[in-house]
Amino acid sequence: MVPLDLRATAIAAVLSVLADQTTATCPSRFSWENDVLTKEAIDSTNNTELFDFGPIVGTAASSKIIGGLPRPRCKTFPGDALWPSNSVWNLFNLTLGGALIQTVPLAAPCYDGWPQYDAAQCEYVKTNWNRPQLHVDDPTSAMLPLWQGRTCMPSDHPSQLFDNCTLGGYASYSVAVTQVSQIQLAINFARATNIRLVVKNTGHDFADKSMGAGSLSIWTHKLKNIQYIPNYTCNGHSGPAFKLGSGVETEEVYQAAEVNNVTVVGGECRTVGMAGGYIAGGGHSPMSSLVGMGADQVLSLDIVLPNGRFVTASQTSYPDLFWALRGGGGSTYGVVTSVTVKAYPQIPVSTLGFTFGTSPNVTADTFWAGVETYTSYFDTFTAAGAYGYWLVVNIGPGQFFFSMNPLWGGNMTLAQFQPLVQPFLDDLADLGIPIDPVWNEYPSLYQAHSGTFPPENVGGADNRAASRLFPRDNFVNPTKRNETMAAVRYAVEAGGILIGYNTRAATNPAVNQTNSVNPAWRETTGFFILAAAWPADASTAVIQAQSNTLTNDWMARWRQVSPGAGSYLSEGDINEPNWQQSFYGSHYPRLLQLKKKYDPTGLFYAHTAVGSEDWEVEGQLPSLPTQNGRLCKKL
Ligand SMILES: Cc1cc2nc3c(=O)[nH]c(=O)nc-3n(C[C@H](O)[C@H](O)[C@H](O)COP(=O)(O)OP(=O)(O)OC[C@H]3O[C@@H](n4cnc5c(N)ncnc54)[C@H](O)[C@@H]3O)c2cc1C
Repeated sequence: MVPLDLRATAIAAVLSVLADQTTATCPSRFSWENDVLTKEAIDSTNNTELFDFGPIVGTAASSKIIGGLPRPRCKTFPGDALWPSNSVWNLFNLTLGGALIQTVPLAAPCYDGWPQYDAAQCEYVKTNWNRPQLHVDDPTSAMLPLWQGRTCMPSDHPSQLFDNCTLGGYASYSVAVTQVSQIQLAINFARATNIRLVVKNTGHDFADKSMGAGSLSIWTHKLKNIQYIPNYTCNGHSGPAFKLGSGVETEEVYQAAEVNNVTVVGGECRTVGMAGGYIAGGGHSPMSSLVGMGADQVLSLDIVLPNGRFVTASQTSYPDLFWALRGGGGSTYGVVTSVTVKAYPQIPVSTLGFTFGTSPNVTADTFWAGVETYTSYFDTFTAAGAYGYWLVVNIGPGQFFFSMNPLWGGNMTLAQFQPLVQPFLDDLADLGIPIDPVWNEYPSLYQAHSGTFPPENVGGADNRAASRLFPRDNFVNPTKRNETMAAVRYAVEAGGILIGYNTRAATNPAVNQTNSVNPAWRETTGFFILAAAWPADASTAVIQAQSNTLTNDWMARWRQVSPGAGSYLSEGDINEPNWQQSFYGSHYPRLLQLKKKYDPTGLFYAHTAVGSEDWEVEGQLPSLPTQNGRLCKKL
């Protein structure tokens, strides 16, 4: 049985701030990373069973949970006899120093059955529901309510499924961590009590991998430190670097880089967590065509392992983990607390924005010839270090619209960028496609990013997306290019929304690119995201049908024209067939072997994360998986 007696002194011991003097790190750890849990502190609580470390990496996993019970097939769920009592949650909260949150759905203020009911707050949530920051700042919400189960949308939202608001796929409890010891306690507690564990940073993952019904969530949002290291000399590298807490968002890093006259590799979205899922999943960037993927820039990471131990992973410390954490996906090998990444000198950036569409003078065929012409320049542009972020939408029968948001010339002045792009613009003119180009030159990535990238819209339950990493040859070889663009046109004509990136993962001898980034990225010059949409009040059956069409018709054609290529695990199809190959490629067997080594009981689970094929969330509808059910080991 769980001992419930609270002993103030013992709890104080758990919370004691103990400097880790045995592990030399480079650079030094953040102060809160020195708040490390020790075995002595755990033992002194008289609650060892609840908070003890797991077995040493590489030794046999324990087959028992708290009370000496055999580990059940399913995770313990609210309402189960084994679900911790309120006293145990209170004890846990005290041990955490008050960091435990009993979660409340973000839209609960819209429902009078909840104590949080508040019309003004509801209005605020409704008004801001499509803004990423609202969900980033919440302990459990994420960007795609579809996978939560739509059990608590803001009031009047046509996609709300029920009259009442329920937790659905949101976690039951969340730990707003500010110290490593809290992460260790949460991991040990979840392992001992057999409760599902999730990690939430910002909630940007396309499959809501930060969610799970009946789970304990570790919320990394408050780990906001940014340390600039002008003369980092360590791990075989010297030069400027940043050490980033895992709660830091992209724009925050871009701002810090601006202040220090350097450049960092981050994504296009302002609020993505750079040291969380972005680097864990590989991370594409406007800088990628110049210097490689986000994960390529990592010099070291600090991480709490599934056994609760805190370690540094680098070329020399846990090198196998260092390899896996740079591309193998989040929520798989532990909770990353901070990441150190290389920084580059500040660079000028030139950009070009324009739109074109079908019109009385531009037929649909001419429009698509224009898009295909752009793809014929993919190789030229990325070889020069350029990047493009663009959109194609179907605006009516036989009518289409293209928007360049922007074409980006990294480390190029306008005088260098314009001659690179002009042949493409001449081709558009030759096709009879008029454009009104907007050129800009900026002194830095931060200013170019702020000046050009449009704000992101999230929170919709009226669409979902899939993606494909098209290899270079699909656009260089004219026959393949025609086939590829026919498959792309088919999907857009049928109503798909295309968000395209012209990017590549440049080879960069200045960094360590021997990592687990999906090898498909190394071949890619066209990363295409395809979204299927439906009316906001569509029935579940309609959503299922559209969802099925996206995966098994539109995307099937894309897969057919790019056999053996892949998809991006962070911006992927929740129903991706053969996802192990698509998201991880030839790295999957090694990633799985490391998963079994570091997390033998499967404490960390996320949909399509490495090792997740052994698990299932109960109560799923075909084509519409949610996190709104109990997690069980497959029979
Ligand atoms: C609008 C939008 C724009 C985007 N733009 C880009 C882009 O330009 N480039 C790009 O590469 N990607 C982009 N993405 C995808 C984004 O990078 C991924 O979704 C990424 O995984 C987000 O990481 P996060 O930590 O912010 O989010 P979360 O959804 O909170 O986390 C993602 C996954 O990582 C895990 N995780 C998070 N933090 C940790 C941690 N500290 N330790 C262990 N596991 C952790 C979570 O459990 C989850 O499984 C975009 C997504 C959206 C919605």
